[in-house]
Amino acid sequence: MKKIALEEHFTTPLFFKYNQGTNPFQDQLLDLGNRRLEAMDKVGIALAVLSITTPGVQAEPDTLTAVKRAHEANDLLAGVIQKYPKRFAGFAHLSLHDPKVAADELTRCVVDLGFKGALINGHTNGRYLDEEIYYPFWERVQDLGVPIYLHPRDPYDLPQEYHGHPELLGATWSWTAETAAHALRLVFGGTFERFPKVTIILGHMGETLPYLLWRLDSRRRIQLPPDKKDARLPSETIKSNIVITTAGVCSHASLVCALSALGENSVMFSVDYPYEDCTIAAEFIESAPISAATRAKVCYGNAERILQLAPDVESTSVQSVQKLVETAR
Ligand code: ZN
Repeated sequence: MKKIALEEHFTTPLFFKYNQGTNPFQDQLLDLGNRRLEAMDKVGIALAVLSITTPGVQAEPDTLTAVKRAHEANDLLAGVIQKYPKRFAGFAHLSLHDPKVAADELTRCVVDLGFKGALINGHTNGRYLDEEIYYPFWERVQDLGVPIYLHPRDPYDLPQEYHGHPELLGATWSWTAETAAHALRLVFGGTFERFPKVTIILGHMGETLPYLLWRLDSRRRIQLPPDKKDARLPSETIKSNIVITTAGVCSHASLVCALSALGENSVMFSVDYPYEDCTIAAEFIESAPISAATRAKVCYGNAERILQLAPDVESTSVQSVQKLVETAR
């Protein structure tokens, strides 16, 4: 089945310094042509939405340098998309050091370069996106009507529970806890009440949130004062403003839970290339115990709707022919 993948990463030599140590996936991250396309072709990924790998300029302490690097990365990605317009699309890389500059760069990327939204690698020097300084940014996101992919990075301060346990850091666990907490700051902090049309995308099967909806609601009810008992519950906000991808989680049990908790319109296939294997990800979704209609939504239909992609020529012509046949009847 045709697939669209949207947590697919790349880098440029200018971004090496933000990755601590050597990245064993460096060659694949640098490739923006044949090697990547071959991996996509092998498993039916028609379109990959590309983004700079974590942490990118969000690890840059100097604001002006971060702004410049993000701008350059977006121009480079625009050039790649121009070369392969049917195979690649883009998420903007933004310097969140200055929310107004980030909003303007997002506008440039969406309006001038045709990007589908932005991917943000967690906090920026310890600042989280629910903070008041980011209201102008969210206002712009809402006006532009594009989703923001909230992607993991290391916590700002390393909590005590990780000391002596480096095996729990990164994608194994600390990124999940960090990104789920960041998303819940937006949910509990009122960002979606203030900007109700904003859509956030979480990777890694929703960073555990689909599994926890009941508990989040139950504890929230206890926190609410008596005169606010009919306030919106976390699960309602999550279901209306957060969608997820399967990136980096190839488990049928997790997929079935996510579909059951969030609904079949809120889950999208992704790989997390090159950190995960395209073949494993494709086999996982092709063999998932779900209906053909749900699989089509997860593999490409939901991404086409959420990223406002033009349906491909093939399916458009099939639909037009069907319409003609129906009209003729
Ligand atoms: Zn990723």
